[in-house]
Parts: sequence; structure tokens; C-alpha cells
Amino acid sequence: MKAVVYNGPHNIRTQLAPEPKVRSNRVLVHFKAGSICGTDMHFYRGEWRWMKKGRIIGHDACGSRDDTGERVVMVPIINCGHCYFCLRGLPTYCTKGKFYGLTRDGFFAESKAMLPRSLIPIPTSVSDEEAAVVEPVALALRVLNNMKPNLGDWVTIIGQGAIGLLMTQVAQLKGCRVIAVDIEDYRLEFSEKYGAHAVINAKKEDVTKTVRKITKVGSDLVIEAAGTQTTVEQTPFLVRKAGKVALVGESKGYLNLEDADEATFFTIYISPVEYPAAVELIARKLVDVKGLITHRFKFDDFEKALQTIDNPAEKTLKVIISI
Ligand SMILES: [Zn+2]
Ligand SMILES: [Zn+2]
Repeated sequence: MKAVVYNGPHNIRTQLAPEPKVRSNRVLVHFKAGSICGTDMHFYRGEWRWMKKGRIIGHDACGSRDDTGERVVMVPIINCGHCYFCLRGLPTYCTKGKFYGLTRDGFFAESKAMLPRSLIPIPTSVSDEEAAVVEPVALALRVLNNMKPNLGDWVTIIGQGAIGLLMTQVAQLKGCRVIAVDIEDYRLEFSEKYGAHAVINAKKEDVTKTVRKITKVGSDLVIEAAGTQTTVEQTPFLVRKAGKVALVGESKGYLNLEDADEATFFTIYISPVEYPAAVELIARKLVDVKGLITHRFKFDDFEKALQTIDNPAEKTLKVIISI
């Protein structure tokens, strides 16, 4: 079968790979569509080098079950069910957890053997393309659920890529007012389209001053979703006293907590728990993922898709591949 294989930095391509072995507790899923994530790009660019060469990549995708023909979203994280965390109802922190597309072969292959519990049926109102962009919705939902905002809270979201833009959408579903921060005007135009109350281009404006001016006392909640040292270190200056700061994904740098006074800081990553609710949100048109899809490629043109994302002039948000 054909699959997208990591052979090292700048060497990820569609090639032939062995057919998956389907053990009795698994079902075969035939790939329909997937989306490329920032994580995949870290490996492509050689920023992260711990992935095993020869591994099939891809962790956000949908397909059809071989046994029933049903369309399904594939959940990339599997927990063991019997470790310390699993037994306490915290599958997110499973000590034996596996992540398809990172620590195990991923979804960008013509077919994949899956445990039925990792498959979510796709409602008819959701297209294959939309069902290929579930991971960032699940993450946005997880972050906002964890922050437990009050109605009317100011949420400053640093970074308005696909994940940040979905947080902008979910924050408003939670009744928050969003201040969207990015360094690219084209992304801030999306933030405005999705209802952000204020947008700040960090290249042109002083983010701390502007946030303080808008909120008077500082932002009730701050979400760092840009993943740079500068933006991480900026968060204590943006949050109000007793506010909350979520550091999403990769967080480098050192926090000067003196400036935060009393505040809650937490790190947060993706989890399998929010996947069903994320599919629901898309099905009910409460979040828009379709509008975030800027480019589409066929499975065989995977390298072209990576090169396109790597070219800032292309202004990509979400890039879809389909069979
Ligand atoms: Zn991802
Ligand atoms: Zn476990």
C-alpha cells in the first residue's frame, strides 16, 4: 500500500509500505482525508529529530471501516486502561499511552488497523475534509474547558494559526471576549471574521500596552498558542491578578512570575477525551473548520503539500490531503 513515510528531515514522502496486520481485536480503516499539523512540520524541518526513520506519519484523519463501510474519525491517542492514571479516569496521562503518527505508525496510509474504541462515527452533516481537522478542535475545547471562563471574560489568545483561530471560536461559545494576537495580518483578518473583539499585530503594536489599555486590569485569561520563547515570557505581563494562563504545547523560556502577582499558570497538551465533543461541535456548525482549509493536495503530492506550508507566501492555515 502507499503511505507517507518519515525518512529524516526534509525527507517525508509517499512511498510503498507493508499492508497492516489486522489482529482479531482491530478493524481495518481505509483512509479518506487527513490534515497536516504543526507537529508534522517540526519533523519535516528537522526541529524535532526523535521520530524513528521509516515511520508512517499523520495523526489527524478520517476513513471508512472495512467491515461496515461507516465513515469514522481516527483518534490518535490510545491509553492502556490499567495504569495509575487510567484507573483514576485520567486517560490523558496514561503512562503506557501511544500516539499514532508519532510513537507508532500513523494515519497517512491507504489503510490502518485500529481498535474500534478509537473510532468515532462521522455524522452525515460533516464532510470528509472537515472530519480531517478534529485534533485542533479537540485541543481548543480542552484548553477552554480547563480554563473554566466566566461569561464576559477577556481572553487574550497569542497565535492565530489554525489552533489559535479555533480557540478564538470556542472562547466565544463560552461567552468570552477575545483579544487575538499574531504577527500576520492575514491571520488576524480571520480572527476578526470569527468575531474577535480586538486584534493586535505584535509586529506593529506593543501587545502588553494594548491589552492593558483594552482590559484596564489585564486579561482574565491568557492562552499562549504561538510556542515561541518571547510569547511564553510575555504571559505574566498580560494576565490580570488571580487570572489564568494556559501554555499550550511546546513552551520554552522562563516566566518572571513577580509581574503576575497571584495567578495560575498551567501547561496543556492534546488528549483523547475531547474528540467526541469536537466532532459534535463541527456537526452542529458551532465551530467552522471548513473556512480554515486553505490548500488541498492528493495523497501522492504530499511533498508538494509540505513545501507549500513551508513557504510563508502561500499563507496556509490548514492543508488537507485526500486519496
Ligand atoms: Zn497535531
Ligand atoms: Zn494507562
